[in-house]
Amino acid sequence: MIKINEHYTEIGNNYLFAEIARRVREYKGSHPEKTVISLGIGDVTQAIAPAVIAAIQKATIEMSDAKTLRGYAPDGGYDFLVNAILKNDFLDRGIQLTADEIFVSDGAKSDTGNIGDILGADNLVAITDPAYPVYVDTNKMAGRTIQLLPCTPSNQFVPAFPEKIADVIYLCYPNNPTGTVLTKEQLKKWVDYALEHQSLILFDAAYEAFISQPEIPHSIYEIEGAKKVAIEFRSFSKTAGFTGMRAGFTVVPKELTAKTSKGETLSLNALWKRRQSTKFNGTAYIVQRGAEAVYSPEGQKQIHAVIDYYMENAKIIKSGLESLDLTTYGGVNAPYIWAKTPNNLTSWEFFDLLLNKVQVVGTPGSGFGEAGEGFFRFTAFGKREDTIEAVGRIKTLFA
Ligand code: PLP
Repeated sequence: MIKINEHYTEIGNNYLFAEIARRVREYKGSHPEKTVISLGIGDVTQAIAPAVIAAIQKATIEMSDAKTLRGYAPDGGYDFLVNAILKNDFLDRGIQLTADEIFVSDGAKSDTGNIGDILGADNLVAITDPAYPVYVDTNKMAGRTIQLLPCTPSNQFVPAFPEKIADVIYLCYPNNPTGTVLTKEQLKKWVDYALEHQSLILFDAAYEAFISQPEIPHSIYEIEGAKKVAIEFRSFSKTAGFTGMRAGFTVVPKELTAKTSKGETLSLNALWKRRQSTKFNGTAYIVQRGAEAVYSPEGQKQIHAVIDYYMENAKIIKSGLESLDLTTYGGVNAPYIWAKTPNNLTSWEFFDLLLNKVQVVGTPGSGFGEAGEGFFRFTAFGKREDTIEAVGRIKTLFA
C-alpha cells in the first residue's frame, strides 16, 4: 500500500496565485470589454540582452556539430561560467571564495527548496514573515518546526531574533515581497547570532542586482565570519531575464561545517556536492553560455539598462502611490513596492477594490504570510506603458 509523505497534507494548495488567477478570470468573464493590467506576478517582460542571445545562438550551433557537441554538464557547472561568477560576483568585490564553492543550478527556487535535503528534520527553522513561500512550504514538507519572524513597519522590517534558538534561518535581501534591505550592521548581527549558536543562515540574494544604494551588502560574505555560517543563493532570473531559461547558483563555503549526532564534523559543501551529483544533472550548456555572457562588458551594459528600466517603473509606482498618501516600503533596492492598504482594508479587500474599480491586479500581502495582512505588493516588472496606465487608474480611485 502506498504511504504518502503526510506532511504534504499540511501545506494545502498553492493558494495565492491560483486564487488571484481565479478572481481575474471571473472578472474578465463578466467584463469582457475591460482591460486588466497586472502589476502582480514577479516575471520579466523585457527582451533578453542581445549579448546573451548571441551566446545562446552560438552555443546552439555548436550542438549541431558532433565535434563541438556538449553532452552532460559537469556537476557544479562549466568552468567558464563558474569562473565568471567567481571573478565578477565575488573576487572583484573583495570576497575570497574558490570555484568549488560555487554550484551552478537551474535557479534559486530549486536550490532554496532542495537545500533541506542535507538538513535534518529536527532542525528548528526560523523564517521571516512575510516570505517567498518556498521556504515555509518546503520545511513543512520535511516536517520541520518553523518559527516565524514578523517583519513589519514596527521593526522597520528587520527581523528580531527568534524566541527559541534557531538552527536554520532564512534571510532574503533584497526582500521579496517587502522590497526592503538590511544594512551591513543589521546583517552582521545575524551572522554573529549564527556564529554564537552554530546556526546556519540560508541567504537568498536573488534580487542582489537591483541594489542601488552603495552601502547595502550584495552578498552575505561581505560580513566577516559569514563563510562559517551561511549558504547564499543567486539567480539569473530577474538579473538577466532568465525566468524562462533557468540558471542560478548557490555558494556553499568549505568552511561551513555541521556535526552529526555522533559528533563527527561534516562539510556542507561536500554534502551539497553529493546531493547535486545524485539528483541534478546540470543546467543546459547553451543556457550556461548565455549566463556567461551576462558578465561580458556588453552583457553588463545591456542587463543594467533593463534593470534601470524596471527600477524606473518602481519609482513611478512608488511616487504615484505616495502622492495618494499611501505608505510604501521597498522599491529602491528591489523591484517590489510593499504598500500599506488604505483605510485598514484587508489585503484581499484591496485586491478586489483595485480589480473591480480600476482593473489593476497586484498581490495581496497576506498571501506571503500572516504579517503581510494589510499590505499589498506591486511589482516593477511590467511594461512602462502598463505601469503608467495602472498608476493613473489607481489615482482615479482616490480622486
Ligand atoms: N527567491 C526569491 C526570493 C524569489 O522571489 C524567486 C522568484 O520569484 C526565486 C528565489 C526563484 O528564482 P529562480 O527563478 O532562480 O528559481
